[in-house]
Amino acid sequence: MGLINREQILDWLYCDDEARLEELWQRADEVRRDKVGDEVHLRGLVEIGNYCRRQCGYCGINASNKDVERYRVDAETIIECAYQAHGYGYGTVVMQSGEDPGIKAEWLADVIRRIKQETPLAVTLSLGEREDEALAMWREAGADRYLLRFETSNPVLFAAIHPSIDGKPYTPADRFSLLKKVKDLGYEAGSGVMIGIPGQSYQSLADDILLFGEMDLDMIGVGPYIVHPDTPMGRGIGPRPLPGGEQVPGDELMAYKVVALTRLTCPEANIPSTTALASLNYESGRELGLKRGANVVMPNLTPPKYRYLYEIYPAKACIQESTDNFHSKLTGRIEGIGRSVGKGQGCRQHLG
Ligand code: SAH
Repeated sequence: MGLINREQILDWLYCDDEARLEELWQRADEVRRDKVGDEVHLRGLVEIGNYCRRQCGYCGINASNKDVERYRVDAETIIECAYQAHGYGYGTVVMQSGEDPGIKAEWLADVIRRIKQETPLAVTLSLGEREDEALAMWREAGADRYLLRFETSNPVLFAAIHPSIDGKPYTPADRFSLLKKVKDLGYEAGSGVMIGIPGQSYQSLADDILLFGEMDLDMIGVGPYIVHPDTPMGRGIGPRPLPGGEQVPGDELMAYKVVALTRLTCPEANIPSTTALASLNYESGRELGLKRGANVVMPNLTPPKYRYLYEIYPAKACIQESTDNFHSKLTGRIEGIGRSVGKGQGCRQHLG
C-alpha cells in the first residue's frame, strides 16, 4: 500500500527547499528501515553483450550507433563472474545486455542452469523485450528475476524516444504486458524510469511513481537521464524540453526525490541506489541514495575489456572502478552509514 497520494508526490517533486526536504528523506529512510531493514543487498552486474536491435533515442548502444564495437561475453567468462559475485558475498548475479536475438534462448538457459547448480546465487535478467518462449525457458532454467524499465508511462513521450522497429506502434503497454508475463511465469519483476527525459513533465513523473505502487513491482530502479552525444537525442533529434518550469530536471536532487517517493509508494520493494546516480555524484551519490530510500547496490563485475563498450551513457561511474578496489571499500562505505551488507539472495519481502 502506498503511503502517499498524487498531490503530495507533486508537492515534493516541486520542492527545492533543502530544509523541508529533510522531512522527505527521513520519512523514506524510516519506511525503508521498517519494511526492508538495514541490510543493503549487493547484486553483481555483468553486462553480457552490447548488440541491440532497438533504436532507443537516448541509449549509446542502440542499433544505429555504428561507432560502437560490439561484443558478447562467452559462457565461461559469465560463469567466472558469477563465481566472483559469490566470492565477494553477493547474493545475486544480474545479466544485462542490449535486446539481442543473437543471445540464443537455449545458450543462456545453459548458462543459467550452471550458475544455479554451481552457486547459491539468485539470477536476474535484464535483456530487453525477448520472446515468450525465451522468457519461459529461462525461468524454467532457474532465473529468478526480470528487469525491464518502462522508462516513462506517458505514451506520447515513450513513442518519441523509442522508434518502432517493426512498423507497429510502440507504447509503454508493450512493456507492461511483458512485466505481467514475467510475473505470471513466477519471476520477481522489476521496472523503473529515467528522470529528466526532455519532454517529461512533473505530472507524468508523478504518474510513473504512483504506477510503481499499483503494479506491485518487486524492484524499482530509477536514475537520471544522461545525454550521450552519439545518440539521436544527443544530436538534438527527439522530444524538446518543456517550457515554463514544466520540464523535470535530470539532476541529482530530483533523482533522490524520486528514490524517496518510490519508497513511499512501494514500501516493500527492493530499490537500488543506481550507477546513474553515482555518476552525478561519485563521492557520495550511492550513500545518499541509500539514506533516502534505497536498499540495494549493483556493483559492476563486467570484465574491464568489455565494460567501456557497454556505454549506454557517458562517464558511467563504474568505468573508473576496479572491481576489487570497489568491493574492498564497499562494505566500509555501507557500514559507515550504519547499515550492513545483506546476507542471502535479498528477495522481495511480502509483509502482507
Ligand atoms: N536492453 C535492456 C537493458 C537496457 S540498459 C533493456 O532494454 O531493458 C538499462 C537501463 O539503462 C535502461 O532501461 C535505461 O533506463 C537506462 N539508460 C539507457 N540509456 C541511458 C542514458 N542515456 N541515461 C540514463 N539512463 C540510461
